Amino acid sequence: QAKSAGRNTVCFFDPEMQAVVSANAALASDLRQAWRENQFQVDYQPQVGADGRMIGVEALLRWQHPTRGTVPPDQFIPAAEETSLIIPIGRWVLDAACAQLAEWSRRPDRKHLTIAVNVSVRQFRHPEFVDEVMQVVQEWGVPPGKLKLELTESLLADGIDVTIAKMGSLKDMGVALSLDDFGIGYSSLSYLKRLPLDQLKIDREFVKDILVDANDAAIARTVIGLAHSLNLDVIAEGVETEEQRAFLERQGCGSYQGYLFCVPLAIDQLEAFMDRLQEEAPA
Ligand code: C2E
Ligand code: MG
Ligand code: MG
Ligand code: MG
Repeated sequence: QAKSAGRNTVCFFDPEMQAVVSANAALASDLRQAWRENQFQVDYQPQVGADGRMIGVEALLRWQHPTRGTVPPDQFIPAAEETSLIIPIGRWVLDAACAQLAEWSRRPDRKHLTIAVNVSVRQFRHPEFVDEVMQVVQEWGVPPGKLKLELTESLLADGIDVTIAKMGSLKDMGVALSLDDFGIGYSSLSYLKRLPLDQLKIDREFVKDILVDANDAAIARTVIGLAHSLNLDVIAEGVETEEQRAFLERQGCGSYQGYLFCVPLAIDQLEAFMDRLQEEAPA
């Protein structure tokens, strides 16, 4: 036990730890190769408004590994953050999202759609982040309000004033800001009030057991009430059943994302999905 051995003790060899270290090194080098060989892909998951219509999508990164198949982001984003690869990858996701927005902006039946892009702490912290967002938006000529950046509470660890200033620059540009995974972090309510946000996103952790766990239900209700009193939109992620959706709706939740509506899809499948929606309910 390295910990109980005290601060000044160096743990020379812990086979278990060693295995973790080399697995991470292998993952990091795999990631670099994946980046060189264009093994990443962006899938899109629909977001639905109160009336059941699609309002936008969330862009979700996928790694199409030649032998391991699709690797979910939770398994490689941390390594991408550690190796800084998240910087070019994140920029690429942003570029892909804006290219998609540009395409949709030319279609009357698609131009209302927003795209939410996840931004990691490392990426947000990067001194050029705000400029890069501005460049990408301008390059593609997309209405900035159609781009929504999903930030997490972990940004607050960097210091509230820096974070607010950066968020403010993004807001000034017209980009929308959502606080992702809300509820699992540690933001205090007084911080929350100062953040220039447009939306709170209820983490799927609370949605999962919303019908059976009174604590989760109370948290969801509180987050929705909080969003209302701060004049923010609120979206619930991980909505899998109609009962969950109805419960959230009764609490005043305005939009939803989850398998109940659609799983994350590759762009071609998403287009087909939206075409089917239009056939069912012509505008
Ligand atoms: P997130 O931003 O909270 O994204 C929501 C996650 O919930 C996605 O997992 C999505 O596939 C999953 N999900 C959606 N609906 C349901 C549902 O009804 N039930 C369940 N059980 N899950 C649902 P995914 O795609 O595996 O992404 C995991 C996390 O990886 C994301 O969590 C986000 O934090 C991160 N991530 C994904 N793409 C990017 C990216 O481009 N950049 C960065 N920095 N992080 C990303
Ligand atoms: Mg997200
Ligand atoms: Mg989320
Ligand atoms: Mg989440």
